[in-house]
Amino acid sequence: MSERAYFDWNATAPLREEARAAMAAALSLTGNASSVHAEGRAARQVVEVAREKVAKLAGAEAKNVTFTAGATEANMLALTPAIATDRTKSLRDRLFLSAIEHPSVRSGGRFAAAQIEQLPVTGDGLLDLHALRTALARAERPLVSVMLANNETGAVQPIRDIAGIVHAAGGVLHVDAVQAPGRIDCRIGELGADLLSLSAHKLGGPQGVGALIGRGDIRIAEPLIKGGGQERGQRAGTENVAAIAGFGAAAAATNLADAARMASLRERIETGIKAIAPQAVIFSAAAPRLPNTTLFAVPGMKAETAIIAFDLNGIAVSSGSACSSGKVQASHVLAAMGVEPALAQCALRVSLGRTTSEHDVENLLTALTKVVSSIRKGRIDAGLAA
Ligand code: PMP
Repeated sequence: MSERAYFDWNATAPLREEARAAMAAALSLTGNASSVHAEGRAARQVVEVAREKVAKLAGAEAKNVTFTAGATEANMLALTPAIATDRTKSLRDRLFLSAIEHPSVRSGGRFAAAQIEQLPVTGDGLLDLHALRTALARAERPLVSVMLANNETGAVQPIRDIAGIVHAAGGVLHVDAVQAPGRIDCRIGELGADLLSLSAHKLGGPQGVGALIGRGDIRIAEPLIKGGGQERGQRAGTENVAAIAGFGAAAAATNLADAARMASLRERIETGIKAIAPQAVIFSAAAPRLPNTTLFAVPGMKAETAIIAFDLNGIAVSSGSACSSGKVQASHVLAAMGVEPALAQCALRVSLGRTTSEHDVENLLTALTKVVSSIRKGRIDAGLAA
């Protein structure tokens, strides 16, 4: 393949070498982590070392880390009325979600549809705190789920303030922090969250492993996956030792040292976008954002076509909304922000990471110049061929 530049880190990040090595070592172990013999204890040791590392990244206690098969499952595990806390053992009676949550949270987990309420966001994609306060007054024991950083816009929610409001109303706060590690602080105590979801593959670990992390003695009283009682009864099933080992190694290698460099590359990208297409709109530009993410639209340049044109020019970008079917669907995030559907259809997400170079950024901007100019000439097909 000719030279490529990868700008889709929010979809998945390249595997870190540390994770690859830890997984390879774990794959040569034989034991089941629940077995008492030496082989089993060796596997258990790998799982527990990884748990310590993930706990450290999240500023949590290792005993409060439950490994799952990814953040989708962690979110599903968290969103249940059956949450036991030190404050109350009673069931959560309502679930409040922001309108811009990941589909796994928007599904509402194990709450009945009638118990779920969506909360609006501002035009910049930040939760409307007034609406949150008003909504919480209608519930006795609410569970609130608000993501730390949005995967499409990168907008960072004021989670500390939200936690204050939720706790004052006797609520429990779940935070999907999947997009935060290595970009902004994601420590559960600093955020004031009660439950936190993480996914390994967004931070350089393997796909298909994640964690639900709790604070204090909060527990999920009704596990999603029942069976052998693994993960302290929170999640049954033989542990995926190699994936967990990779997660731990990636978590240990993750820190905020690269955040400022990423922010300056993102700044260069946005300056470039504005110079190439002055009519471009950058979403959530006025909100606090992740340092690695920009979501923008050039009016008239449809994402569906532009992604292919970029791809043919060696650049991997994505549309605003993740498209599991390969088809670009309307973004619920942009709709919630009040963005016109015609403009939302043009939203392109550029997300970068620790190996992104200035050279990659120049290649991205060169490709953008080509794609925009072929559209201006009404020849997007020429752009595709370029
Ligand atoms: N939440 C957010 C914010 C995400 O970006 C993603 C991944 N697209 C998930 C949850 C789901 O994570 P996983 O791929 O591990 O199921």
